[in-house]
Amino acid sequence: MRWLILSDIHGNLEALEAALASAAGQYDRVACLGDVVGYGADPNAVTDWVRAHAAATVRGNHDRASTGDAVLEWFNPAAQASAVWTRHELTPENLAYLQGLPAGPLDLDGFELVHGSPADEDDYLIQIADAEPLAQRLNRPVTFFGHTHVQGGFYYEQGRVRRLARVGSNSRELALEISDRAGYLVNPGSVGQPRDNDWRAAYVLYEPEARLVMYRRVEYDLAAAQDKIRQAGLPGVLADRLAVGM
Ligand code: ZN
Repeated sequence: MRWLILSDIHGNLEALEAALASAAGQYDRVACLGDVVGYGADPNAVTDWVRAHAAATVRGNHDRASTGDAVLEWFNPAAQASAVWTRHELTPENLAYLQGLPAGPLDLDGFELVHGSPADEDDYLIQIADAEPLAQRLNRPVTFFGHTHVQGGFYYEQGRVRRLARVGSNSRELALEISDRAGYLVNPGSVGQPRDNDWRAAYVLYEPEARLVMYRRVEYDLAAAQDKIRQAGLPGVLADRLAVGM
């Protein structure tokens, strides 16, 4: 079984379409790590696609904030504005779908999905110190997480936590071989709003039988996604940041 792992699509249809085009024919099933909506101008189109195609999806904080869960006060003004806008845009079917998404961890075909962390869906795993306390909470050899919008993650070997690399700026993919002597927290990066200084859409292909994670980056129609954000009346910063990947 070959899995396409998507996270933090954030209503960016152009980025999602580019990711899917570049992965076409290379996966059997899709898993999604949440934040389907929020920030981007196409919440319905991306939710339609996830509803139709993802075999498993966990909820993200923006999915909750955009569908009525009272976490808006945690958000900065631009994120709040986009959550309110998204809530008004979503069709009743998509609103109900996002409201019904489960919190992680979600146990799949020998691996797990979480939005933020195995300990708490809202935690950000940014530094090695954030990942260190989780060694005992990894129930599977590989756990996929998102939320930080930073491709890479962490691995645990012989009592130490180290950082996993991401695709370099001059490259399009990076293979990671899964060792049976280590545990892995893998972040595919964000499809629709990367924050690792690389504007390209990020995702992962995972083949458990081959013990292979393939990190990918792909260019997308950035100008079209930015224009839609501005034309929707969403805060301009949400368009600007896409160009720098921050
Ligand atoms: Zn997110």
